[in-house]
Amino acid sequence: MQDDNADRLVVLDEIDARVALDDPEALSAQETASYDVAIVGGGPAGLVAAGHCRMRGLSSITFEAQAFGGQLVSLYPSKPVTNFPAHLDVASGELARRLAEQAAHFGAELREHEPVESVAFARDMGFALRSTARRVKARAVLLALGLGRFRPRKLGLKDEARFAGHGLVYRLPPRDNIVARHAMVVGGGDTAVDMAIALKAFVPEVTLVHRHVGLRAYPHSLERLDASDVRVITEAEVVGLGGNGVLDHVLVAVHDKEIREIPADLLLVSVGQEPDLGGLAQWDLNLTLEGNHLPVDSSMRTAVAGVFAAGDFVAYPGKVKMIATAAAEGSTASASVERYLRVQA
Ligand SMILES: Cc1cc2nc3c(=O)[nH]c(=O)nc-3n(C[C@H](O)[C@H](O)[C@H](O)COP(=O)(O)OP(=O)(O)OC[C@H]3O[C@@H](n4cnc5c(N)ncnc54)[C@H](O)[C@@H]3O)c2cc1C
Repeated sequence: MQDDNADRLVVLDEIDARVALDDPEALSAQETASYDVAIVGGGPAGLVAAGHCRMRGLSSITFEAQAFGGQLVSLYPSKPVTNFPAHLDVASGELARRLAEQAAHFGAELREHEPVESVAFARDMGFALRSTARRVKARAVLLALGLGRFRPRKLGLKDEARFAGHGLVYRLPPRDNIVARHAMVVGGGDTAVDMAIALKAFVPEVTLVHRHVGLRAYPHSLERLDASDVRVITEAEVVGLGGNGVLDHVLVAVHDKEIREIPADLLLVSVGQEPDLGGLAQWDLNLTLEGNHLPVDSSMRTAVAGVFAAGDFVAYPGKVKMIATAAAEGSTASASVERYLRVQA
């Protein structure tokens, strides 16, 4: 892989976001934007809330740190969902797409790959939010954070940070950025298998390395893998990375004993995602969490006036964590926001 391309293979949205934040002009252009409600989190709860807020005539902006759909796309992107009302069987990714499409159809303003970094009480009234790309004001805030932002799980190798963006990536980069000749994918789930197959379409040699005996992917993915030329090494673990500034080989321990040096100028690590609610502690909202959950009443109101919450992030007696309940709570929250704003007006 060339040096200049390798640099571009880090998680691009995060880098772009940091650049925007450091650039005062980029922020000031957006600074005056003001909404009835700002929704943080674009999983099922946030997306349904976004659509229903618009149905109720409220102006809203919805921020999603990653891709719209929340856990449906971050944790189980190709699982069939069989319990969502009116759908006998719908792929999770497709359901996520339809939820976002419906919110957009109602006219909701949706911001994807734009994490909210801070929320605080505004000096005059309402709330001030800062995302990685803009600052906005809102009269109410709806927190639909689910389990939190998902961050790719790392391998835990000594040299991992050094090679990140220099041949080592955690998400499939845009095809035009990939100039690798030997790609290696680490992981045994659906995402890893799908990415290995996808890479084989334009990278001459692709190796899939998995630490267990069997892969955990769906049968149809395994059939496609069998039919591809992807080389599969199981019971194997990546134990080292090598290269002069840029990755050019990977050390793989096979069956715990034999160490093989395998050429690799692209290493795609796909060993899961970790949810993270870490940044929330710095938000200046006087919220008191119960573990990783925010208590709400049956109207999805929190203990702080003007702050509402919905979905997996909330706690109340009898709470069930499902897509349908997250959607229902998003709807309830939108009604509560409307009532709150009517009284404030
Ligand atoms: C493996 C697995 C399988 C499942 N299968 C099913 C099933 O078949 N049927 C079913 O009904 N339920 C299923 N569930 C549960 C279901 O996915 C959840 O209940 C649902 O996704 C909750 O939706 P949510 O919107 O509350 O949260 P999430 O889906 O977690 O979405 C929250 C979103 O908020 C975003 N976010 C967090 N912090 C920020 C921030 N600071 N700025 C911007 N965005 C932020 C996150 O990136 C995330 O996208 C499953 C869960 C798992 C883990």
